Amino acid sequence: MLNYNSAAALSAFLEREGLGMLKKFGQNFLINPQIRQTLVETLGACSTDEVWEIGPGLGAMTALLLEKGLNVKTFEIDLGFIRVLKKMFSDNDNFNLIEGDVLKTWFSQYTSTVQPFSAPFLLGNLPYNIAAALIANFIEKRCVFSRMVVTVQKEVALRMAASAGSKDYSSFSVLCASTYNVKPLMTITPSSFFPQPNVDSMGVLFEKKASVINGEQAEYLPVFYPLVRSLFASRRKTVKNNLFSFLSSRKPLAKEATREICTVILNENGINENQRAENLELEAFFSLAKTIYNMRL
Ligand code: SAH
Repeated sequence: MLNYNSAAALSAFLEREGLGMLKKFGQNFLINPQIRQTLVETLGACSTDEVWEIGPGLGAMTALLLEKGLNVKTFEIDLGFIRVLKKMFSDNDNFNLIEGDVLKTWFSQYTSTVQPFSAPFLLGNLPYNIAAALIANFIEKRCVFSRMVVTVQKEVALRMAASAGSKDYSSFSVLCASTYNVKPLMTITPSSFFPQPNVDSMGVLFEKKASVINGEQAEYLPVFYPLVRSLFASRRKTVKNNLFSFLSSRKPLAKEATREICTVILNENGINENQRAENLELEAFFSLAKTIYNMRL
């Protein structure tokens, strides 16, 4: 079996196969076996659970998942890696490979195989250029995993896990918190990868929140997502000014009327007009969305 812990062995293997590492696909293999093991254990999937693995590369994590008897669905874009993965794993009935850009392929897999709210587990040493877009896409399309364990650039991890008031708090933090409890696991230094990236990475655990299981907020989520984005649109502006732009873009009322509605909405939710989005807790975004939804704005 290929030695996934050795940069030299991986490099020699790639050369034999006539393959190179492509920067544009964020290809950095995780060559630290302890970290790979910890990530798989933290995922906590067992027996015949279904696990989606994003970007299997040459299959270092895939091999661990298959050893555990899990049902593994991998999503890979690189044609060379796809050829290698098929050679290595296609004898295994639990191995499934979805070829192409995961941003385009995942949705058909979700609707065809998974019931709402019984979504599988997700594991991925995510390509840095699509990590945030992919997670946001899953959340907004209501593809909710029981647990996700991902490796991303440290800076992205800090945004995922940030709480109100911190400098990393953004619309993406609110989006993640709307659906998951997000826990940073460990910092992973460049030397744990081949080739070595320029920045630190971080393992992150996402656990589905109980409120998502009830689905109580589902009704006004179509207002919640664009609202959160709008309230962070100009970070230096107050919530009131960003809310004004949001409402104006949805309902073309007279400016004065929209201004009054903003005041009513903020008062009703006990939010000071001079607040900024970076200081609002998740519940404030939910209750604002609920009010706006109920007012049919
Ligand atoms: N899991 C492996 C490789 C991680 S590198 C390991 O830890 O060693 C990131 C992987 O994601 C690469 O295999 C890359 O080809 C793949 N990838 C990049 N962009 C992708 C996309 N849009 N869709 C699917 N896979 C992608």
